[in-house]
Parts: sequence; C-alpha cells; structure tokens
Amino acid sequence: MLRALLLGIGCLSSINAGAASIECDRCEAWNQEQAPFQIFGNTYYVGVRGLSSVLITSSAGHVLIDGALPQSAPLIAGHVKQLGFKIEDVKLILNSHTHYDHAGGIAELQRLSGAKVIASDVAARVLRTGKVERNDPQFEIIKPSPGVSNVEALGARESVSVGKLQLQVIHTPGHTPGGTSWSWKSCEGERCLNVVYGDSLNAVSDNSFKYSGDARYPNASADVTSSIAAIAAAPCDILIAAHPELSSLRSVFDEQGKGDRAQLVDSSSCKRYAAGAKERLDKRLQAEKS
Ligand SMILES: [Zn+2]
Repeated sequence: MLRALLLGIGCLSSINAGAASIECDRCEAWNQEQAPFQIFGNTYYVGVRGLSSVLITSSAGHVLIDGALPQSAPLIAGHVKQLGFKIEDVKLILNSHTHYDHAGGIAELQRLSGAKVIASDVAARVLRTGKVERNDPQFEIIKPSPGVSNVEALGARESVSVGKLQLQVIHTPGHTPGGTSWSWKSCEGERCLNVVYGDSLNAVSDNSFKYSGDARYPNASADVTSSIAAIAAAPCDILIAAHPELSSLRSVFDEQGKGDRAQLVDSSSCKRYAAGAKERLDKRLQAEKS
C-alpha cells in the first residue's frame, strides 16, 4: 500500500516536472486558451490569449518565437499539433526577452521539440540560468524561469535560418538589456509581406531603477530610444507584439481563433507601436525628474 502510494507520488511529480508553473497576478488571465490561427502564409499564432508565440513553418523545419509562461508550453505545443504540424519539426526557438512571461516556456518547448535555441549574447546568458541579471530594470520583481540547457549565442549574426527560412535580427534592448525583435517575409503565392515580431519596448522597472540614469544599466534610456527607432524603420506589413494586445491581434481575433486576418495587414503598425513606446518613455523620464 505504502509502496503503491510512493509510486503514485513519484509518478505525479514526474508529470509536474514537465509542467512547472509560475504564479503571478496576471498569469491566469494571460494563460487563457486561445485557438491557434493563421496570420499570413507560413506564419501562425500559437500563443495563449495574453502572451504571443508564433510558429513560422518551412519544409526544412519550423521556427518558434517565444514560449510564454512555463504553464503555457503544453498549450503552445498543442496548438502546433492542432494546426497539423509536429512539435518535433520545430528546429529553432527564438525569444523576444528573457522575462518569465515570454521565456518561461522555452525550456519545456525545447525538451518537447529538441530544437536549438538562439538568443542575443546577453539574453543567452540569462536564458541558461533562468535568472535575470542585476542590470535588468525589473531585476527586483522578475521571478526566475526554468533554465534552458542548450542556448547558442547570436554574436554578430544579422540573421538566423532554418533551411531557406531566414529571420532578420533587430536588436531591441532597453526593456531588458538583451531584448530582440525578429522579422521575416511570409508569402501567399506571389504576395509576400514583411512580418515583425516586436519585443517589448516599454520603459518599465522595479521601484529602485531609474531610466534617467542608473549605474545598474546606464544605457537603458538610450537603448530604448534606439530600439524604438529600429522598430519604426523596419520593413513591416504585419506586427505581432510580444504582448498581443499591443498590436491588433487581440482586437482582430477572438478566443476561437476567428477574425478577419486581412485587418492585421497595416504598414503603419510598427510605427504606431514605436510611437506608443516613445510616449511612455518620455512620460517616464518626465516623472523621474519631478
Ligand atoms: Zn518584460
């Protein structure tokens, strides 16, 4: 009886080990079910309701950007399957930034897929330990994520690829020191559009950090400014923001994955996203002054 009980517990904990979960005020709302849907061509939304994750497919293997929360990983893997693709065909996992709401599910998604993870040099270091470093403006409030075992640092590369599928690197530090956005072309027949996966550009921090000048990360404000400029200048027909409500994804698509995807095509979407971040940065710097 005791032996059976112990075996039972052993079994339960091994199930839980694959589905580590993080609790936070918004985690439950973020992790609501969202039916997957096609964005354009080979680009699909596979995230949860409040946190983006995107699958870009190719005959040589797929790319997945962001893993949302640890507890989102099984949902994301389920969405890939629901669309008719195999999680084992994901060959590369990328990340916007290393906070637990975007990177938390990556370790598990890597375990399920066997994919390689590539991240900016700074982000790669953080992903390996799962712990944000002291120079992160939210150092005091960001919970650790499950560490990712096999992460390759991007170095000076300007693009990454799986077969013929190529994604351009847009470094977008400032929200975190290693933040990265990604862009690629998706086609439907002759029609090809530029898709951008936009990292968070917002100057938000814990209570002690100052964007107007802080020894923890002296370039923070300059980095946000240059990242905003980089996103505003990116060739961009469709924006997918790491937080979907900051692009038109949430307003266009419902929980069932129904919506008019033509409405996502908007060549001013990246510029608007950048302008919103600029406004928030200016407000923030002003508030720090007074
Ligand atoms: Zn963040």
